[in-house]
Amino acid sequence: MLELLFLLLPIAAAYGWYMGRRSAAQQQQDQQQQLSEKYVAGLNFLLSDQADKAVDLFIEMIEVDSDTIDTHMALASLFRKRGEVEKAIKIHQNILERSQLSQEQHRQTIYELARDFSAVGLLDRAEALYKKIAGKKNVGEQATRELVAIYQSMRDWHSAISYAEKLPVDCGMAKQVAQFYCQLADELGEQKIEQRMKYLRKALKIDSQCVRASIMLAQCYQSQGQYQSAIEFYQQVLEQDIDMVSEVLVPLTQCYDDMPDKTPMQHFLMTAVERGAGASAVITLAELLQEQQLAQDAELLELTQLRRYPSLKGFFHYMDYHLARAMEPEAKASLEMLQQLVGQQLAVKPKYRCSNCGFSGNVLQWQCPSCKSWGETKPVRGLDGE
Ligand SMILES: [Zn+2]
Repeated sequence: MLELLFLLLPIAAAYGWYMGRRSAAQQQQDQQQQLSEKYVAGLNFLLSDQADKAVDLFIEMIEVDSDTIDTHMALASLFRKRGEVEKAIKIHQNILERSQLSQEQHRQTIYELARDFSAVGLLDRAEALYKKIAGKKNVGEQATRELVAIYQSMRDWHSAISYAEKLPVDCGMAKQVAQFYCQLADELGEQKIEQRMKYLRKALKIDSQCVRASIMLAQCYQSQGQYQSAIEFYQQVLEQDIDMVSEVLVPLTQCYDDMPDKTPMQHFLMTAVERGAGASAVITLAELLQEQQLAQDAELLELTQLRRYPSLKGFFHYMDYHLARAMEPEAKASLEMLQQLVGQQLAVKPKYRCSNCGFSGNVLQWQCPSCKSWGETKPVRGLDGE
């Protein structure tokens, strides 16, 4: 009750001011009398816990004009913050219906009403209102951003892109728009590979750091047997985001399967390891060295990197060298048990984590299911991860 009284203070203050202003004009006596009655009735409603009726009366009591509009807007905004969105909608609709507003005030009120509808999940009504003011002065850019968010939640990527592209180039949306193009490519299926690749190239043109577009494009080339092009796009990831390199190691190795010369792959892995790409890159390089009968170099590499970046994954793999050398059955059994324990630990740890909200899981999600941010979920680093 006290809280609501406090909320209605601006209206009460405006009322006092209104009365003062009107009292100067003798011909307004009747209206004053009417207003006094409404004011007392409104207070009665408040005191008897009938807040809805009180709000209705207060809205009716103070005419919306250029002097009182800010008070009405502030009250509506307070109601929305308290979660009483229906009251906010009522006030905003009242402002739009009953007053002579400037263009700026009109657009601002439409924007606020659209936010009300959005807050209660009436997205189609919010969408229609935002469309009216998108791109116009004052609130046009915010309205366009809201439209992008709405289309994103509806998974209407074409509309999301078309509105996002109306925003200024430096609006900070490039990362998202690139992901929208990736979504379009993703939803096309395997058949329309040309169109898929067109979307993915567009994504990379908009955001050259888009790891997802590079990986998907590489997969397209790989599926067509164009391994050299696939390799180029997989390797792009090293320049885009070192934390994501572990994602391309398996398909990259597959691309080199039928190639007799694996030197370029070795160079790539050495650079990745040197830059700290993580345990998976170290293990892949070590396996490549073992294939070339360089087992000692492989072991030394793993040990050096394990000291540099300790991780359970690296330790698990490094134990293979000791197991291979263990001659005594007892020592071998102990090592096997130790490796098994480490393996169990690894199995229960999540592989990916969102750097924005901390949501973790075992599947790479390009859009975090929890905080909805794009491209923030990455392989876990450190002792428990890469
Ligand atoms: Zn998140």
